[in-house]
Formats: sequence, structure tokens, C-alpha cells
Amino acid sequence: MDAAGVVYFAVPGPLPDEGLLSGPGQVPWLGRATAPAAVRAGLREVGALLGDRDAGLFTHAVALANWHATHEHCPRCGARTRLAAAGHTRLCPQDGSEHFPRVDPAVIMLVLDPADRCILARNRKWPMKRVSILAGFVEPGESVEQAVAREVREEVGVSVGEIRYLGSQPWPMPQSLMLGFSARAIGDVQRDQPIRVDDDEIAEARWYSRDDLRAAIGAGDILLPPPVSIAHRIIAAWYGAPLPRAG
Ligand SMILES: [Zn+2]
Repeated sequence: MDAAGVVYFAVPGPLPDEGLLSGPGQVPWLGRATAPAAVRAGLREVGALLGDRDAGLFTHAVALANWHATHEHCPRCGARTRLAAAGHTRLCPQDGSEHFPRVDPAVIMLVLDPADRCILARNRKWPMKRVSILAGFVEPGESVEQAVAREVREEVGVSVGEIRYLGSQPWPMPQSLMLGFSARAIGDVQRDQPIRVDDDEIAEARWYSRDDLRAAIGAGDILLPPPVSIAHRIIAAWYGAPLPRAG
């Protein structure tokens, strides 16, 4: 319920009018003379188009719906739990335990060298040319700063210090909270800390100056994450201007 007393509901279920729905990744009403009555659109597609209130509502709804869909039973006794507190918790009728939505903390970090270059890397699972800053999940018993240092060491073999918090973004695909950081490589990166990628997860990684980034985007060599992502915002803040577009 908002300040004006308006109540919002989220209803998981099949979408109507399949004939009017578009394929994933498309926002067909943009640039069309006549808009269809309904289209299927994920948070990734419309997050950047919605206002703060609607983007927040959509994010909250997706996060809760994902949780309900995958947490139907009590983790203690296996009984089927029931929805409570307007969908914000689930209760076990057998043992009375109350269960809350999971949030998985993840860190995402801009790694800088003394010359203020940053590391951009391509995950093995991503399309060719897509690069971003490094990221990974926080492990149990670990501080977020330890997670930043561990992930950078694991993924590119670089030791970092000066870890600073930048901001956060909920990322309910399915249930992450992305915590953004900057970190500084220790010492002379050319001499002491050459990038050694973890071949399991990272296909390639390298240092980019702002000029390198502009040139690589202009030449069509790399694609950056979409503007809706915290990764895009962190890279843009380092770049010091809106990021150049491809082509
Ligand atoms: Zn139970």
C-alpha cells in the first residue's frame, strides 16, 4: 500500500493474448505506429523504461514471486507452507516456523590500477564481445570486502586493497542483491600482477583506460552491460560521462 492508500497486487500466472505477445528481449511498442494491447516484457527489458515507483514494484513482485515459486515447503519438516503477511512471509502449519524471502548478497567491483585503468572481463556464458566488471556471490561467513578481494583474486589473479562501497541494486533474477564496490590493485600491475584468468568462469579479461574503452566500443570490439544494470552505472561513473554507444 502506498502513501495514498493505493494497494498493489502481483499475480503470477499465464499471460493473456499470446498472439499479441512478443519474443524475449523485444520491446515492440517502441517505434510502432499502433501499439498492441499487451506485450510480454521482463524486468530486464522494461526496468529502464519504468519510473522509480513502478520499477520498484515490479522488482519487488518478481523477487517475491520467484521466492514463493521455489519455497513451497517447510525446510524443517517438509510440510506445505502457507502464504502470510500479504505474501511477505510463509508459515508452516506443522511446526509454526516462519520463513522469509531469501536474498543472496553478491559483490560487483570496478578494479582499478594505479594509472586508473579498469578491468573488464567476459564471462564464458556471455555472448561474444559482452564484457563487464567482475562479480560474484558472497560466501557464508565472509564479509563483503573479503568477497571482493577473493573474487578478484580467483577470477583474474590480482590482489586488491582500498575496497570502497559504491551503491547497491536488487537483482531478482532470481534473488540477488548486487553490492557495488571499487578496489585498487596492489603494486605494479604490469610487473607484479599480470592478469591470469580463471578459465572456468572468465574467458578473457584486460585493463582498459578511458581511451581504450572509447576505441573498443567505437570499433565494435566490445559490448557493455545494459543501462538498467548497476555494472553500467559503475563503469559510466568511472568513465566520467555517459558511455559511448557502439558503432
Ligand atoms: Zn515445518
